[in-house]
Amino acid sequence: MPDLLVVIAVSLIGTLVLHRFDWFEALYAFTRPYESLQIDNLLIVVVFTAIGATIICVRRSMEMRRQYEQRLKAEGRMETLALTDALTGLANRRHLYGALKQKLGASPTDAHGFAVCIFDLDRFKPINDIHGHLVGDQLLQQIAQRAQAQLRSGDLLARLGGDEFALIVNTSSADEDISGLAQRLISSLSEPFRIDQLVCHVGASMGIAFAQGGTSQTPDALLQKADLALYRAKTEGRGTFRFYQDAMDAKIHERTLIELELREAVEQRQIHPYFQPLVCLRDSRIEGYEVLARWIHPTWGPVSPERFIKIAEEAGLIGEISLSLLEQACEQARDWPKGTYLSLNISPVQFRDPQLSTKICDILYKAGFPAACLEIEITENALVHDVDVARNTLMSLKARGMTLALDDFGTGYSSLQHLRSLPFDKLKIDQSFVMNMSESGESRKLVKAIIAMSHSLGLKTTAEGIETHAHALRLTQMGCETGQGYLFGKPAPQACQTLEVSGAA
Ligand code: C2E
Ligand code: MG
Ligand code: MG
Repeated sequence: MPDLLVVIAVSLIGTLVLHRFDWFEALYAFTRPYESLQIDNLLIVVVFTAIGATIICVRRSMEMRRQYEQRLKAEGRMETLALTDALTGLANRRHLYGALKQKLGASPTDAHGFAVCIFDLDRFKPINDIHGHLVGDQLLQQIAQRAQAQLRSGDLLARLGGDEFALIVNTSSADEDISGLAQRLISSLSEPFRIDQLVCHVGASMGIAFAQGGTSQTPDALLQKADLALYRAKTEGRGTFRFYQDAMDAKIHERTLIELELREAVEQRQIHPYFQPLVCLRDSRIEGYEVLARWIHPTWGPVSPERFIKIAEEAGLIGEISLSLLEQACEQARDWPKGTYLSLNISPVQFRDPQLSTKICDILYKAGFPAACLEIEITENALVHDVDVARNTLMSLKARGMTLALDDFGTGYSSLQHLRSLPFDKLKIDQSFVMNMSESGESRKLVKAIIAMSHSLGLKTTAEGIETHAHALRLTQMGCETGQGYLFGKPAPQACQTLEVSGAA
């Protein structure tokens, strides 16, 4: 509307100006000399002008079309980049998320027919740390290629970040179908990888969750379930896969609750030492006591170490707990007969603390407890994780005068080489062998062989889990020096000074 007003105003002003200055006359005078021109000439001019204008219009529209197509292509490229993992070329988290949403959204109440698998690599971090990110990156690229080669058309592989990958697998809902794929994938990733001159061995663990339908099923919920199953696969040995089960949710909640309460318990000093006698089998004299952790929770009551030690290790609390137990135990040991020793369990996680032996010595020094009366128990698995770290710590503890015992012998993976090269003083034969001695000839032979081997290596032996006189007698005949078990006494908050031997013969 304003445009129209401007056009009318300009036309009016133009007409007035032409009229005022008599420009109509001037225009007429100007056109007079051209009156002889033919109308055809004019037409030719008009036609050529029209053709020219058409060509210009066509070219312009072609140009605009090209620009539009280029823009579409650029947008497409950007979209692809936004959905692709730059390192491996696989789909990224966003892509996976979108695909899951689409699959769930297609039929939210009946979203069967596919599963989500999450896998991550075992032992990737040390390779990345030791050989650098360049090697780590190349390894991830090779892993992506190998994993991709195992998939069927229609399956989607994505890298979620770091060494974590996810998979959407179409399935006929048969577990075996997915199991086969998971097994193939894990086996292929456990084969060695070659990067230039370097040969790397990694492995993978996998968690699998089936889409089950229902409106509560979201990509997040599904991924979380696969994650829980992955966590289970890792805690149950790695290099394997697990399917999600509802019980896992409950387990995780329980674990989170225990961890929360445990932090409080450490602060409030609710974890106390219980003492179980270690008895000389020849003369039934109490030589010392094993210190066993008991958490006395204000409402739950006593909590067994089986329930909280692992969580304390994972939550980084075990060091504090262990040193607090030693402090409390040394306090009690003040009144004990001279030479009575304490046997303290040390977790594999604590071996990573280079200050461990200094911290222990500080406590002993303050309590006036002799280092020679402290025995340190470590389980065989501590040696498997990192034998060099374990060796350094063991050497340092030994150098300060403590004795070293290998706990639960026979259940782990320590080799004879470890026993020869590490400064142990004692083997503790695991209670499972001792308890089976009556029924199983194999167990008897094994216990006998362990005692003989131990002696030939210059080590003493303690048998755990002695519940009957018959076992105590047989172990004494086999040459075992020390016994521990309910026959002599259960773990108790106060160390028993004299034995009231119980149990069946
Ligand atoms: P362990 O060091 O092998 O301790 C021996 C376990 O066997 C104790 O269980 C003890 O109560 C039990 N036991 C002893 N004699 C008998 C018997 O005759 N029959 C039966 N059935 N059991 C017997 P507890 O106190 O439940 O400790 C379990 C495990 O928890 C310990 O095994 C040890 O590995 C760990 N643990 C306990 N306290 C600590 C601690 O302060 N630090 C660390 N890192 N681990 C600890
Ligand atoms: Mg022990
Ligand atoms: Mg033991």
